[in-house]
Amino acid sequence: MIDRLPVGKSPFRGRSLCESCGKTLSIPDLIPILSFVWLKGKCRYCKKKISFYYPVVELLTGILFVAVFSVLAKDRIIFSLSDFSQLLFYLFIVSVLIVVFFTDLKHGIIPDKIIFPSIVITFLYLALYSPALLTNHLATGIISFIFFFALILGTKGRGIGMGDAKLSLLIGIMLGFPEAVMSFYIAFLTGAGAGLILVLWGKRSLKGSLPFGPFLATSAIILLFFGGEIIPKIYRFLGL
Ligand SMILES: [Zn+2]
Repeated sequence: MIDRLPVGKSPFRGRSLCESCGKTLSIPDLIPILSFVWLKGKCRYCKKKISFYYPVVELLTGILFVAVFSVLAKDRIIFSLSDFSQLLFYLFIVSVLIVVFFTDLKHGIIPDKIIFPSIVITFLYLALYSPALLTNHLATGIISFIFFFALILGTKGRGIGMGDAKLSLLIGIMLGFPEAVMSFYIAFLTGAGAGLILVLWGKRSLKGSLPFGPFLATSAIILLFFGGEIIPKIYRFLGL
């Protein structure tokens, strides 16, 4: 998805192939992480270097899937149907955010083809399993989108783009209020911090903009995992 969606190819059609020689990969070449290790990071056929992105994405996905399971399962042994749906939904959302993180980092694009279906699936999940939250989450999504859209107009599109605005709609619907606001706050802080470090380090000019999707995706995952712990602490701190 990370490599195919931004260039308009279907992730569901055609087998995986080498980016340089175009050879279709065989089953041993497709084993996550391990194939990269035993091929020493080079294509079996043309010996060109394989991007480090692949093992990193594979490892990260594995770690985050285990994290989702351990956060949701805690010390329960028996999983009910609604627990199982919640597990599937969280795994789905984490996968979407991983794709967004890397498509924006690698290609500077947050594909509609990943955002729009995710909005529909999130809406259906809430409608089925947490209808009481639906109003809050939908309103948060729409207000987030309007806020990001206003920012784009205000900055004439130099900082963030429409992809970020559509992503904020998804994150708003997914996390609701106040979690979504907190996640945007963390994204803006870390994004500005990273931008400043890169400018001071001489890696980027003040005019060059940083992709914002990776920051939005990371902070959304943080709130998805730890929102239940962070938010009450902030409320207590504010005396609410
Ligand atoms: Zn090759």
